[in-house]
Amino acid sequence: MPCELKPRFLVLYGSQKGQAQSIAEGIADEAEERGLFADICCLSEGDKFNLEKESYPVVFVVSTTGDGDPPDTAQKFVKRIKKKTLPSDLYAHLCYAFLALGDTNYADFCNCGKTIDSRLQDLGAKHFYATGHADDGVGLELVLDPWLEGLWEAIRGALSKMAAPHVVSDRKSASLTRSLPPLSELALNVPALSPPYLDVTLQENTIEEEVGCLSLIFVPISRAVQLTRDDSVKTALLIEMDISSHPMTYQPGDSLDVLCPNRGSEVGELLHRLGLEDQKSNRVQLSLRKETKKKTAQIPSYIPENSTLHYLLTWCLEIRTVAKKAFLRSLVECTGDRGEKRRLQELCSKQGSADYNLYVRDPNLGILDLLRAFPACQPPLSLLIEHLPKLQPRPYSAASSSLRHPGRLHFVFNVIEFPACTGRPVGWRGLCTGWLSDLVDPILVRPGKAQSSSTPALPKVSRGNCSFRLPSDLSKPFIMIGPGTGVAPFIGFLQQREKEREENPEAEFSETWLFFGCRHRDRDFLFREELQGFVANGTLTHLKVSFSRDTPEGTETQSETGPTYVQHNLLSHAKDVINLLLQENGYLYVCGDAKNMAKDVNDTLIEMLSAELQLDKLDAMNRLAGLREEKRYLQDIWS
Ligand code: NAP
Repeated sequence: MPCELKPRFLVLYGSQKGQAQSIAEGIADEAEERGLFADICCLSEGDKFNLEKESYPVVFVVSTTGDGDPPDTAQKFVKRIKKKTLPSDLYAHLCYAFLALGDTNYADFCNCGKTIDSRLQDLGAKHFYATGHADDGVGLELVLDPWLEGLWEAIRGALSKMAAPHVVSDRKSASLTRSLPPLSELALNVPALSPPYLDVTLQENTIEEEVGCLSLIFVPISRAVQLTRDDSVKTALLIEMDISSHPMTYQPGDSLDVLCPNRGSEVGELLHRLGLEDQKSNRVQLSLRKETKKKTAQIPSYIPENSTLHYLLTWCLEIRTVAKKAFLRSLVECTGDRGEKRRLQELCSKQGSADYNLYVRDPNLGILDLLRAFPACQPPLSLLIEHLPKLQPRPYSAASSSLRHPGRLHFVFNVIEFPACTGRPVGWRGLCTGWLSDLVDPILVRPGKAQSSSTPALPKVSRGNCSFRLPSDLSKPFIMIGPGTGVAPFIGFLQQREKEREENPEAEFSETWLFFGCRHRDRDFLFREELQGFVANGTLTHLKVSFSRDTPEGTETQSETGPTYVQHNLLSHAKDVINLLLQENGYLYVCGDAKNMAKDVNDTLIEMLSAELQLDKLDAMNRLAGLREEKRYLQDIWS
């Protein structure tokens, strides 16, 4: 069966003589047969799992040894969760099943399992299946077999209660590298090889220090705050930069571009695979091959002269970019292994398109992932420089007003975490958001905890978008729609408006509406207090918040009508919104996810116009297009 998306859960074991481990492995293997995907870790591998962020069901299999002692592999874990200082809701998000192994011939039957189980509950975790206590003294199977039998239905039940099904692609590197059986005898339709056009030489560097050539401005970070609770699905951070010593101005609605380096570990691995570790401080000299016939061939302008190899791989090339077919085609020439050649040819051939999409494009496999899967491949440096694009700065919306915070610029982002996938480390994070989050970790203020030490520096480049602006006429009403981090520019808008109100006490100010959406009232309601403050002082006249994963009051289950989103609130205030837009010439701003949210909001607006003005769909669409042309329906949307 080809690779498919499967619901995931986590199996953790603590084993002394291997019994708990083998039961845990059996569960993980059976998961596969049952169309599920299990990650499996030993409790001693604390760097491979993180229960504080675990959003999937967890199955524990833990034995007891000696006189009720934890097995060696579980000792650290037990010590950690027994700490009295841990918050009582640390694992409030966690649902789990527990199988404890023990022997009634010894004192304190299943003591370790019972200790962990009860401590998990003290810390807020909930059972999705009754705990089993299997007794080796009478035969584990008496409890084990029926417990295992009931486990699968319970896991399915736990997964179905999750608001969004958590799925991972069961893509093994074997599938990436395994040839297509029916194709092996066929002639493949492989694209022609584009001949290399760059000559690269590495010159021993006579300059002592690293040659940094891009004109980066390093801006100190003065503050960093985690805006979400630890048990939130996503972690949102706010970063405040001190721009007071730079000639940089901005307005709410602008964005800034952050240039982040490639991860040191990935650069190191790449240097190792290229066999160039010893030459990382050498200067890279590029020239066009004399014999090249490629008309558009040119030396990439984004690689500064005199770059060292390390600098080039760290700051100039997007080394995580998804490997294109042309790159795979070139890799065919870089391996002496016949199996690898064949598979690479298949992946870039017409016949292998489905596999390419499944194993390379959809999981965003980059060059390092490919080199891990094809160990005999030895590409030359020139191939990378020709195929890897420029490392792009990442844009973020300003989430502040310089009137309210002179010399400071705030921005907000979710730390992107990719689903578990074979071949990549657990907790694989987005390049820039992962880097930023590591950078601010020493000074990060987390909910309920205050921390502060040194201030790290952040390279940043320019200002971006500047059409997303508050109406210049203070008397014009405006409506803002921004779920999640899409609220960022609106915080800037509201800070600006608040200040304007303070400075113009006599002026007439219009209505201001914000439709915000998040998952849970208590976990990821970003800027909750600041927004409530804006309402209290009249800056924000209407705050409408939708919670997509909170259960409706008085019930224990999710609403049967599905999650509540910003557009549902918008619809219930259709009359007011249409009136503000059409009668009072108001402005409508949408910020956030382009793929789903912005489209759904657009559809809702058409529905509202059509219902309120008795228009057919086409006319309603035209009215909305008119607002867009007048620049009164503005979007700042990101995919
Ligand atoms: P998020 O946390 O993933 O989602 C926020 C809320 O929107 C959740 O309650 C979610 O519900 C809900 N939602 C999901 N699908 C929706 C739909 N079709 N319509 C309406 N609501 C929907 O949001 P996020 O990760 O912060 O994403 C915000 C987007 O804004 C990203 O694309 C980001 O790139 C972009 N953005 C970022 C910045 C910035 O400066 N960082 C600025 C502007 C925009 P469920 O998950 O429960 O379904």
